[in-house]
Amino acid sequence: MRIGFAALLSVALSAQAPGAGGVPPWTPGTLDFHQISTGRGNAALVVFPDGTTMLVDAGAAGDGETIADMEPRPDASRSAGAWIADYIQRAGVTRIDYAVVTHFHADHIDGLNDVAARVPIATLIDRGDAYLTPPDADPTFTKYRAFLRLQSARGMTRETIRVGRADQIVPRHDRAAFPAVEIRAVAANGEVWTGRGDEAAQVFPPLATLAPEDRPSENMCSIGLRIRDGEFDLFTGGDMPGVPDAGAPAWQSVETAVARAIGPTDVHVVNHHGSIDPESAFFLTTLRSPVMILPSWSPTHPSQDALKRMMTARLYPGPHDIFATLLRASTRASIGARADQLKADHGHIVVRVAPGGDSYRVFVLDDSTEARTLVGVFGPYASKGPQG
Ligand SMILES: [Zn+2]
Repeated sequence: MRIGFAALLSVALSAQAPGAGGVPPWTPGTLDFHQISTGRGNAALVVFPDGTTMLVDAGAAGDGETIADMEPRPDASRSAGAWIADYIQRAGVTRIDYAVVTHFHADHIDGLNDVAARVPIATLIDRGDAYLTPPDADPTFTKYRAFLRLQSARGMTRETIRVGRADQIVPRHDRAAFPAVEIRAVAANGEVWTGRGDEAAQVFPPLATLAPEDRPSENMCSIGLRIRDGEFDLFTGGDMPGVPDAGAPAWQSVETAVARAIGPTDVHVVNHHGSIDPESAFFLTTLRSPVMILPSWSPTHPSQDALKRMMTARLYPGPHDIFATLLRASTRASIGARADQLKADHGHIVVRVAPGGDSYRVFVLDDSTEARTLVGVFGPYASKGPQG
């Protein structure tokens, strides 16, 4: 028996959704993407037009250690995972249909268990541990294994990402009503979608042929996703690099293969927090994103060079609107005047796509208190469509 759309919605979203502290409540037909600021790593909540919900990462860098050199948002009274769960619940979400783990680093996964303890996760998708298996002694991966055991016992299922495919993550509650919504697995473990059908190709050489210093890093193995609704495209790709270290092989720029596959993209989450090695000129010129979300939390985010590349009008015309989750005072001091050109220097960044995908707006919510007051609205921006 087919369960009604409204009934299913009530499962994922409570009827009295108050909105995420200032953003008008989500309504059916709308695609929302929230980059949540914790000061501790990456976390994003996505609500599909049919009410399906997806979490992309739940970072908690510094968990169990001193966090004196961090700026937890809104404060240190709760763990990063608990704050992420609070954000999700305040957005009216009571269940996470998909949780995608881009890669196995603390600033992307250490908050997962604290989220799942409060908001159940139905399906967890990661890059698998067969390729570049994390070492047994890795404390982050040990904690992740414990999370998997605990939540599996509570009914969570785990899948490995299927690169190239758009049928693994789908509008789970009413796919037929939203045929223009597509979530495509673009990259993971050196496999990258070719842009043709469901085809993917391995861009990393066989591991056995590589010198130890050239082996892919955990960051290079990050999952990349393209979220599409009609003419609107958003890309998020964890910590994948774009500018290889001096002397390193060119294939280490995962961004290059990704850019060739996805082309023009309205919004992208800046790779690797805008640190020293992402956002190559080729990636930026190919995507030509008028809106970039910078998931920054550490003093090294962003690097001056990456920010300069992201901002320059030489690479493509039109807006280069950059919204940062947290620009630390020391980072601002070293970057100088360019920091003043950011559209936001702290906050939760929410992209709300109009039903059908023709346009979108960006909301900025204050991350310094749990009230999450709306402090800025940008747009509407017109979606570019596949031709850009
Ligand atoms: Zn990271």
